Amino acid sequence: MWIWTVKKISIVVPCYNEQEALPLFYQAITQVAGEMAPVEFEFLLVNDGSRDNTLQVMRTLHQKDARVRYVSFSRNFGKEAAIYAGLEHARGDYVAIMDADLQDPPALLKEMYRGIIEEGFDCVATRRVDRKGEPPIRSFFARCFYKLINKISRADIVDGARDYRLMTRQVVDAILQLKEYNRFSKGIFGWVGFQTKWLEYENVERAAGETKWSFWKLFLYSLDGIIAFSTAPLAIASIAGVLFCFLAMVLALFFFVKTLVWGDPVPGYPSMIIIILFIGGIQLLCTGIVGQYLSKTYLETKKRPIYLVKETEEQPDEQE
Ligand code: UDP
Ligand code: MG
Repeated sequence: MWIWTVKKISIVVPCYNEQEALPLFYQAITQVAGEMAPVEFEFLLVNDGSRDNTLQVMRTLHQKDARVRYVSFSRNFGKEAAIYAGLEHARGDYVAIMDADLQDPPALLKEMYRGIIEEGFDCVATRRVDRKGEPPIRSFFARCFYKLINKISRADIVDGARDYRLMTRQVVDAILQLKEYNRFSKGIFGWVGFQTKWLEYENVERAAGETKWSFWKLFLYSLDGIIAFSTAPLAIASIAGVLFCFLAMVLALFFFVKTLVWGDPVPGYPSMIIIILFIGGIQLLCTGIVGQYLSKTYLETKKRPIYLVKETEEQPDEQE
């Protein structure tokens, strides 16, 4: 017997202080949803501890449209946690992750859906082909980061990849199996594998509100990415150690022969100081790297939850 079921797409939207952008986003996404009928939709808004009226906006949208669901955190847990919560709460056959600021064009969704339904991909992801409107220094460091991490990690991390992607239930379940506390989505998506189709588009500027990422925050985030998906930095200590031993032997031989032949009384106080400082520096650096991995391991062993929920559309906060 042929049973024709209507498929449902869940749109997961991490939101942090997006009171201005959310209504615009809702308007844009419902329009696309209308064009994609009979496919059903669910909009899962995750409030990541916003300090503005984002939660009120979510409540209002839910009252207006039952397809809007929301999960509200007890504090700001970060975008990675919000994505995880969204994937956990999503009930659709397909799940898309989309930013609230319309930097991820909702209109692409149709093409993404076609990629899965007609071309048989498990996942359709997007990447920006340019970094228009971004400070040049930031783009430069971003490029360096992607080159470096792809050299030292086995997860395939694509330059310019956005978190904007549509996935089948199978891929979502695979991602949910990675319960690590230090989450680096770009790495996790690459790590789980599956057939991924890449769509490219030009950078779009934020519709409203402002970016939550400072240069420093991005820098720390990139370090987290390296530590989460590569153990190569740990090898620096061993490699430096071997190199220095070798250098020491060569120098010892050199000075031994030199003294035998010329009988030099060896002055060289400055060079000594430089060498001591240099090697001391390398040692501290290596200890620091080990410390970084240790701290991440420490946090993982605590097995703290990735996020805490204060309110959802099914359990509204009665006290307010
Ligand atoms: N975001 C979040 N928690 C945070 C920071 C950001 O949920 O701690 C959300 C934010 O609301 C937006 C998305 O993550 O929907 C991307 O953030 P943003 O636009 O500031 O980053 P950018 O596009 O500048 O990289
Ligand atoms: Mg943005």
